[in-house]
Amino acid sequence: MGAEYVRDVEPGEVIVVDKNGMRSSKPFSAPRRAFCIFEYIYFSRPDSRIFGDYVDKTRRRLGKQLAIEHPAESDIVIAVPDAANTAALGYAQRSKARFEIGLIRNHYVGRTFIQPSQGMRDFKVKIKFNPVGGVLQGRRVVVVEDSIVRGTTLRQLSRMIREAGAREVHVRVSSPPIRFPCFYGMDFQTMGEIIAAKQSVEEIRAHVGVDSLEYLSKEGMLSAVPNSAEDYCTACFDGEYPVEVEKEMTKLRLEG
Ligand code: SF4
Repeated sequence: MGAEYVRDVEPGEVIVVDKNGMRSSKPFSAPRRAFCIFEYIYFSRPDSRIFGDYVDKTRRRLGKQLAIEHPAESDIVIAVPDAANTAALGYAQRSKARFEIGLIRNHYVGRTFIQPSQGMRDFKVKIKFNPVGGVLQGRRVVVVEDSIVRGTTLRQLSRMIREAGAREVHVRVSSPPIRFPCFYGMDFQTMGEIIAAKQSVEEIRAHVGVDSLEYLSKEGMLSAVPNSAEDYCTACFDGEYPVEVEKEMTKLRLEG
């Protein structure tokens, strides 16, 4: 677009842009910052610059930290494309392993966890990814994924990767386990939908059918992002909601 980055909108601030130019006012009390840390993990494109840093650089740091915390004996490192690509590059770089393109994503299919029914999500995963047999056959594979919500995608992918001939499949996740619903707009709003709310890491590993499964620690995640920990919302990982959620709504969604 040729646009120029000026600055972020502050909490409580309203910016009006019209024929007279740009005006800023602060009609609301400015609460604490609470950047959605999931923007760095999954939502934003890697070429974005948000909360003071590039998403690409931050995601690489998440991947490097993951490699420090959870190394794996492997022949290759692959990503679940596209969101985990840069985290996988960071993981491979730090572990001095070979990065390969082991899965091809069909760009005409949307994001899977934002589909309304389980049946539709299952079907979409099948047409969304294709394994690259020549890369996976006979190899011990580390698969870097950005996050696990329901486990649907990963379960099907692990089967797909094995069927393509991989000898071992080790999953490394560049965020901590999602254990709580998001009430601020993300479509994983009930505890019933979130696999790590009810199952241990070992149970999830068995469910998705991989040889090993490890998540990045919360401390590791916070060490990889700019700003201080208090500037972020991390509620889906730790249940500490920065803006109070109405009790009735919480009850409804936690029971869901
Ligand atoms: S709970 Fe917070 S960190 Fe998690 S997705 Fe929602 S806004 Fe983002």
